[in-house]
Amino acid sequence: MSDKYWVPSGVRTGLTGFQKHAAENINRGLCAACGACVSVCPTKAIAIKLAEPDPELVGKCIPECTLCSKVCPGSYIPLTKLEEMVFGRVRSEDERMFGIYREAYCGYAADSDIHKAGVAGGMVTALLAYGLESGKLDCAIVAGWDEKEPWKVKPKIATTREELMATARSKYSISQSLTALRDAVDRGFKKIGVVALPCYVIALRKMQLHKLKIADKVGLIIGLYCLAHTYIEGTEYAIRDRLHVKLEDVKEYAFRGGDYPGYLEVRTKTGDLKKMDLMALWGMAPTMFIGFPVERCHVCLDHLAELADISPGDVWGRMDLMAEGKKEKAGYTGAFLRTEKGEEFFNGAVEANYLKTMPVSTPEYKLEDYYVINPGFFKKKVANVARIRYRMKYGWPVPKIE
Ligand SMILES: Cc1cc2nc3c(=O)[nH]c(=O)nc-3n(C[C@H](O)[C@H](O)[C@H](O)COP(=O)(O)OP(=O)(O)OC[C@H]3O[C@@H](n4cnc5c(N)ncnc54)[C@H](O)[C@@H]3O)c2cc1C
Repeated sequence: MSDKYWVPSGVRTGLTGFQKHAAENINRGLCAACGACVSVCPTKAIAIKLAEPDPELVGKCIPECTLCSKVCPGSYIPLTKLEEMVFGRVRSEDERMFGIYREAYCGYAADSDIHKAGVAGGMVTALLAYGLESGKLDCAIVAGWDEKEPWKVKPKIATTREELMATARSKYSISQSLTALRDAVDRGFKKIGVVALPCYVIALRKMQLHKLKIADKVGLIIGLYCLAHTYIEGTEYAIRDRLHVKLEDVKEYAFRGGDYPGYLEVRTKTGDLKKMDLMALWGMAPTMFIGFPVERCHVCLDHLAELADISPGDVWGRMDLMAEGKKEKAGYTGAFLRTEKGEEFFNGAVEANYLKTMPVSTPEYKLEDYYVINPGFFKKKVANVARIRYRMKYGWPVPKIE
């Protein structure tokens, strides 16, 4: 293992077109289900079934075009090149834990409706609302729900505060958000805000590295902390076998609905509300994240969306804020401001009174001490490192990070 990054060997197959993508990424269980390949395919020949990983070739592939495998974050992450492109330098030893960032804050949406609509502090929704209403963004790619099967996540292109609020809160199953990038560009949007998981951020940065025109339209990348995203089988198991609701009876679904920090909630077509605790024994978090993580998440080392402009997440270890949030029934979001663009955008939102902020550390709670309680930290930065070692020993697929 290198001092800074994990550097296992990847595969180079000599194949072309979608075959190469399939051989290097999809068929090796390394697809992150981000949807980037769908958006960059020049002939629109790649599709991905709603809520599932593993894109398929459905049209005519140009063999000499390898854009799909080039932007895929699955088997290859040129981290040094990406850090140099995004930050003008690579991280130092001291930056191994959090990645490169300029500032970090805790905070929440100043508008109490947005705060309550959000899963934690509503910071992401408030930032996007600021972007749309100030003209810094002309749309935002967010994660909503499918109209026909409302427990399945579907990417949405939001252009108003109302659409942002309707799509707020975390979806812990596959969102395929980057499939919407092509749609947004086709609809003429030029300043697109994207809410992305860390692997989706890597795909966007790889698009920028390869100077793809579609990437020029991305105005801001908000990368969520991410423990893992989960297979749709997890959602369906929770609804059917734990809450005893037939899928055809589901009217609304949420991973973290209701009062902060939220419950897995199902509203049935007859109006019943069924709930599962978030943290309790075999509640939502242990059920989903132990049982159903997407395979690629087991070899991911990026918890904090280390290449995003702004990286927000929950602030689980700050027990003072957790207690305050429970009392207020709305929580707090923590955020790393990584790029100059991200910092300027965030400060603009604070100045325009979209966000209230506070220091990320107090004398009692230091970021580096309380952050380690965040479950994604020990999965991504400790457990997955061990898992990668074993996989390499057995010759199983792991991403090449260099
Ligand atoms: C799969 C996943 C894993 C996470 N793991 C952790 C973790 O380990 N530790 C931690 O502290 N926080 C984690 N988070 C982040 C956390 O759940 C909140 O998203 C974050 O605290 C922001 O809260 P907020 O109130 O500011 O966001 P909100 O104002 O509620 O806005 C959330 C935004 O994210 C979008 N969104 C929701 N789900 C997805 C998705 N799957 N893909 C793309 N966009 C999405 C929504 O559409 C909305 O725009 C995770 C989030 C996800 C989606």
